[in-house]
Amino acid sequence: MAATIPFDTTQVLIGGRWSPGASGETLPLIDPSDGSLLAQIARGTAADIDAAVAAAQAALDGDWGRLTAAERGRLLLKLSARVADAADELAELEARDVGKPVKQGRADALALARYLEFYGGAADKVHGQTIPFADGYTALTLREPHGVTGHIVPWNYPMQIIGRSVGAALAMGNACVLKPAEEACLTALAFGRLALEAGLPAGALNIVPGLGEEAGAALTAHPGVAHLSFTGSVAVGRLVQAAAARNTIPVTLELGGKSPQLVFADADLDAALPFLVNAGIQNAGQTCSAASRILVERPVFDEVVARMAERYRALRVGPALDDLDVGPLISARQRDIVQGYLAAAHDSGLRIAAQATLPPGLPERGCYVPPTLLAPVTPEHRLAQEEIFGPVQVVIPFDGEDHAVAIANGTNFGLVAGVWTRDGGRQFRVAKRLKCGQVFVNNYGAGGGIELPFGGVKQSGHGREKGFEALYGFSALKTVAIRHG
Ligand code: NAD
Repeated sequence: MAATIPFDTTQVLIGGRWSPGASGETLPLIDPSDGSLLAQIARGTAADIDAAVAAAQAALDGDWGRLTAAERGRLLLKLSARVADAADELAELEARDVGKPVKQGRADALALARYLEFYGGAADKVHGQTIPFADGYTALTLREPHGVTGHIVPWNYPMQIIGRSVGAALAMGNACVLKPAEEACLTALAFGRLALEAGLPAGALNIVPGLGEEAGAALTAHPGVAHLSFTGSVAVGRLVQAAAARNTIPVTLELGGKSPQLVFADADLDAALPFLVNAGIQNAGQTCSAASRILVERPVFDEVVARMAERYRALRVGPALDDLDVGPLISARQRDIVQGYLAAAHDSGLRIAAQATLPPGLPERGCYVPPTLLAPVTPEHRLAQEEIFGPVQVVIPFDGEDHAVAIANGTNFGLVAGVWTRDGGRQFRVAKRLKCGQVFVNNYGAGGGIELPFGGVKQSGHGREKGFEALYGFSALKTVAIRHG
């Protein structure tokens, strides 16, 4: 594998051209596997955001805005093929930047390619309706782009989140300004290069890395932005929604979660077990839809905990490029937060049912936390209520369907849930009673499901991305009523 990054990482992409940001300042990117300096990135400012929004508007008024939906779709398909061809390089970049094991990075790159394929194919299949109206009229609806769309993405799944938001926005003919996370943005920059190579017109996609409170805040406040898509924490989501309110523009918020998997006593445990554990430790637990709460019906509680514990003890933790089961967390800060939760668990006497072992010889400045399974935990405990964003799962016993649903719905979040039962009636009943955006029955797709609309209720956010549904969010409906007599 290449040791160096094959492009200049210190640039912003504005109007089809790479250049240093207006300030000329840079920010360090740290490799979380060993704490070494990985690269410098541009510290984008409000001036760069201004220029990016102007370039996006110019693209809408120019070459990009003139393309037909089919032509936009073809460009996205071309870009999809380029991304798929570059999957290995993208996976390595993501491994070094995010600390994600290479196979998980590769899966993300292929998911990005698939999003572009899905939205490329869908671009010319979104259409309006004709409406029976008054005599002498023809009334119809048009689906039009919002205009310039702002996309603020986090560090945990940069490629997948770019795919689902930028992919859908471009398909509908918007011009995008993307602000990747300051902790990890190499694959966003690589994506910008691939987009230009695929022939995306100048200004259709602009990329301004930088700090959230600088470049991010400038993007959310910009009067030239017509729609915001934000994925990240609840705290910042509130700021983004307030900024959107000041400009009275629509905003999609994809925020955190405390997603449960409900395991009933009649479940096929052999089938459930891999999903119960993987959905907690994938990407070292730094997944918005991580199944961080496992709810188990009391007759099978001990068995499920014992079998999960066995899997935990077998987990291999190490540097991302070693491509094991679990890599480091994104940063020393995130590691300290998760260790704080483990200390709180210890202080309140929670039982550690299993903990993976950190192998000797891990880089001292790497951001590793041993995957930890806590059981039993009460539903009200802090660790069963707050998003930990690390490889920590709590197991909670329940007695019957009503109790399970009450616990599952008993947090401030509502993103995803899993239900494991062989009882067909219960599958439907429980799926309907769960307050969240997605329910998987007898499977669980943390982060997955390109075709499946995704998003939260309560503090997990609002609006839907992924699937065909996202195309409605990334377009504005116009009604035209023609009086012709
Ligand atoms: P974060 O909110 O700190 O940062 C996310 C993005 O917002 C970054 O690009 C950051 O630079 C930017 N930002 C920060 N302050 C800003 C401001 N004042 N104005 C505008 N932008 C600003 O979140 P994070 O710690 O990077 O990501 C973790 C969180 O994201 C978790 O809560 C996780 O659950 C959530 N998440 C949700 C989903 C989902 O689809 N629901 C997916 C991934 C992550």
